[in-house]
Amino acid sequence: MDKSLQVVIAAAGLGSRMNSKLNKQYMLIQGRPVLAYCLDTFESFEAVDSMVVVANESEIKYCENEIIKRYGYKKVIGVIPGGKERQDSVWAGLNACANSTGLVAIHDGARPLLTRQLLADLLSAVQKWGAAVPGVWARDTLKMVDEEGFVVDTLDRSRIAAVQTPQVFEYEMILKAFQMAYAEGIYATDDASLFERYIGRVKIVKSDTRNLKITMPEDIAVAESILENQ
Ligand code: C5P
Repeated sequence: MDKSLQVVIAAAGLGSRMNSKLNKQYMLIQGRPVLAYCLDTFESFEAVDSMVVVANESEIKYCENEIIKRYGYKKVIGVIPGGKERQDSVWAGLNACANSTGLVAIHDGARPLLTRQLLADLLSAVQKWGAAVPGVWARDTLKMVDEEGFVVDTLDRSRIAAVQTPQVFEYEMILKAFQMAYAEGIYATDDASLFERYIGRVKIVKSDTRNLKITMPEDIAVAESILENQ
C-alpha cells in the first residue's frame, strides 16, 4: 500500500450502560482487556504505521501502564485525553495524527473482535472510494416509528445496513468534514455521517455481527463465546 495509515482509537467513553466501575474498555475477555484485542490486530497489521489512543482524562495513566506498556504496543505514539462526546474524542485523535498521514482508520476501543480480513477489505475499498465503512445488512424488517411508538413506514431491508468501525478515510477529507461540522455545530454518532454530509459518497464493506461493540454487560460473554468458536 503506498499511502500511510494511522489509527485513531476512541476509548474515552465511560459506558454508563455497563453497571460496572471498571470502564468497559478495560474489562477482561478471556483474561485480556477489551482494548488490547483491537490493539493486537492493528499492531500486527503491516499497513498500520501508528496509532493514537484517546482515553478518558482520568484513565490516561492506567491506559498507558496497564495496556500500552504492559502488552508492549510499539505503534502507539500517544494516549491523549478525549472529550465530552465521541465526536470530540475522535477530533482530538485526528489532530494528534501526523499531518503526513494519507489514510486514517477510526475505531471504537469497545469493539474488540475486528478481523484482519475486514481491515484488508476496508483498505482496498478506501483506496478506490476515499471512504469505507463496515456494515451488516439488516436481517429483521425495520420500521420507522413516531414518538408514540406507532409505525410510520416499513423500510426496504435490502437497502439498510448497520454500520460499525473501523471507518477508514482519506485523512485530509475527514479532517475537513470535522472542521465543517464544528463550524456549523453539527454532532453525529459516527464519523461517516460527517463525510457523507460534507464530502461525498461512503462505500459500505460487508462485515458481520461478530465485530460487536461491548455495550451491555452480557456482551462480554457473547465476545467470549465468539472467541471460543473461532
Ligand atoms: O458510548 P458508545 O459505546 O457508543 O461509544 C463508542 C466508542 O466511543 C467507545 O469505544 C467509547 O469509548 C468511545 N467514546 C469516546 N469518547 C466519548 C464517548 C465515547 O471515545 N466521549
